Amino acid sequence: GYVVGGTLPASIAAHWLATAWDQNAPHPAAAPGVAAFERTALRWIADLLGLPPDAAGAFVSGASAGNLCGLAAARHAVLASAGWDVDAQGLFGAPAVTVVVGHEVHPSVTKALGVLGFGRERPMRVPVDSQGRMRADRFPRLTGPSIVCLQAGNVNTGAFDPISEIAEQAHRDGAWVHVDGAFGLWAQASPRRRHLCDGIAQADSWATDAHKWLNVPYDSGLVFVRDREALRAAMGVSAAYLASSGEAACDLTPELSRRARGVDAWAALASLGRSGLRELIERCCVHAQRFAQGLRAAGHEVLNDVVLNQVLVRFGDADTTRRTIEAIQLDGTCWCGITEWQGRTAMRISVCSWATTADDVDRSLAAMIRCARDCRLPSNGRSGAALS
Ligand SMILES: *Cc1c(COP(=O)(O)O)cnc(C)c1O
Repeated sequence: GYVVGGTLPASIAAHWLATAWDQNAPHPAAAPGVAAFERTALRWIADLLGLPPDAAGAFVSGASAGNLCGLAAARHAVLASAGWDVDAQGLFGAPAVTVVVGHEVHPSVTKALGVLGFGRERPMRVPVDSQGRMRADRFPRLTGPSIVCLQAGNVNTGAFDPISEIAEQAHRDGAWVHVDGAFGLWAQASPRRRHLCDGIAQADSWATDAHKWLNVPYDSGLVFVRDREALRAAMGVSAAYLASSGEAACDLTPELSRRARGVDAWAALASLGRSGLRELIERCCVHAQRFAQGLRAAGHEVLNDVVLNQVLVRFGDADTTRRTIEAIQLDGTCWCGITEWQGRTAMRISVCSWATTADDVDRSLAAMIRCARDCRLPSNGRSGAALS
């Protein structure tokens, strides 16, 4: 129901080991071993996700923190271009920054924009299509310092903004392009889904999660920024404080002390390999399609184009849909959540665990279809009455 990954056995074992090693990860001088794991994992991930190999990358707590870091770097860069050092002087008296988001922006991006002083409600909202994709034909011309927030993988539909097209328009006007790709960026690992991320390397910053589709333990997200100095300007701690040279993770993220998240990610990648990751991503998408086909065959309305791992389904009107979701949750075969999609109540299915099998999908489908049928019976007006 939520976008919740499973944990790969190798990754959870590495997580336990890293806990036992008890290394503090902010600086390679203090913990060179775990720093090497993190550096390697970051290089592998940038490669798998099709990001520029020389982009700065760092482990953070999740995509929310990744969005915050990417947008902090953006804030620094676009204001520096306008002659203002925001990290030294703050926002008081700074030139105004235009921020653009889509109507279906993820709440974590809205939150990051609020924290950074851009306001949660002030950003311009570009209209989206029926899948939640920003409409390139409605994208505004931009003047002055500007930041555009794109989405790779809508949390309801799995849809992607037209990244290449909009990045081109935004860059023509000198804007910074940030991509929230919490789970969707991992489509890059599958040759059959990669087209969804078309133009991804054109962006300036990217946030993603390892704890969703890479199936590592919580909490683990990532930020990548093309302009290393912008990220360092936004997130660096005083050089005198650490009194050492060299690239330190704590100069790229909000944290100073933190656990060695990169060890878990390294183990996930080392155990899967490129082909294993491709199969994991592909398998989840195939399961999502199996859900959609089964629900459609039973006469239920699938609201989204199932391009990735997300399925949105309605079981009739809002009330029947709500009661059916409650019955499915009580039934306990699987758990799916309720959501609103463009004014309609729907159930969301998200497939993102290595452990989910076709048999799990079939058993879940059977439970969903049974609950929906019971909730539709005319004699059955009572919520939860589907349970005997
Ligand atoms: C989950 C998600 C986030 C937030 O990620 P966290 O790891 O929970 O902080 C941001 N954007 C999208 C599209 C998501 O699916």
